[in-house]
Amino acid sequence: MIQITMPLNFLGSVYREIRQALVDMGEMFDLLEQPAEIQDKPGAAPIRVNGGAVSFDNVAFGYDPERPILKGISLDVQPGQKVAIVGPSGSGKSTIGRLMFRFYDVTDGAIRIDGQDVRDVTQDSLHAQIGVVPQDTVLFNDTIRYNIAYGRDGASQADIEAAARSAQIHDFITSLPEGYDTAVGERGLKLSGGEKQRVGIARTLLKNPPILLLDEATSALDTETERGIQTALERAGEGRTVLTIAHRLSTIADADRIVVLEDGHIVEDGTHADLLSRGGRYAGLWARQEAEAA
Ligand code: ATP
Repeated sequence: MIQITMPLNFLGSVYREIRQALVDMGEMFDLLEQPAEIQDKPGAAPIRVNGGAVSFDNVAFGYDPERPILKGISLDVQPGQKVAIVGPSGSGKSTIGRLMFRFYDVTDGAIRIDGQDVRDVTQDSLHAQIGVVPQDTVLFNDTIRYNIAYGRDGASQADIEAAARSAQIHDFITSLPEGYDTAVGERGLKLSGGEKQRVGIARTLLKNPPILLLDEATSALDTETERGIQTALERAGEGRTVLTIAHRLSTIADADRIVVLEDGHIVEDGTHADLLSRGGRYAGLWARQEAEAA
């Protein structure tokens, strides 16, 4: 994970821009590593998002043309729907997120958001509509307030607290002697992985994006922490379209839809109950995970 350790307080507006870029890159590091040189089309317009419908239309992609990763993915996510993407390691789950951000262009097919091809709109406007909750949140050496407020320029204390409440971190923050003024990061209070993630969720909520892309933590957290994060993510997802890249199955059983990716194709698509009763790939993955947990 990128660590940002340089002193940031004194930096001026130019540096603020650089820092924003660093944060955005840092936040997306797991999901969106190695951004490619993608340019806006001449005259590209900003995307207009209403409901936040996401559509993958026969999408094919490989980082290397010789090695296709996605081989014809079609997936329609309705506005407000919660969809989890599961599949074996290396099946291309995170790649789907990177393509939605247009960090790479598809080699065939198209990705549309509310009917607009992501190649036809400005990347800045596209990125503003999609909030990413990464596995690891980068914290600045600054106050908790600053770390949350980063989600939106000019956020008021009331906005910050509302986001922190939804992210289930407000009570923790107010229990600290210095509350929202508590210094965190390398030189301040060290937050646990779960606390950091909730600060990251609050930061993303402040941005108020219609679409959320969650890169679920790979490592198991303790039950209490996991429950806190789950509640925070559920609150965060209310009224938004949510794609969860799930590396484990335990946390996504409540998704509206679970999509199973294998060898570049969607091999199953349904609710947890549907897929279990089908006795196919998902049921197999679930049984294996249950056995491992026992
Ligand atoms: P995991 O659950 O292990 O995180 P995943 O399903 O998210 O895996 P991806 O990260 O999407 O898998 O990777 C899909 C395939 O693409 C893998 O074989 C991976 O090695 C390859 N890949 C990923 N990123 C790159 C890249 N930047 N350049 C070349 N190949 C890549």
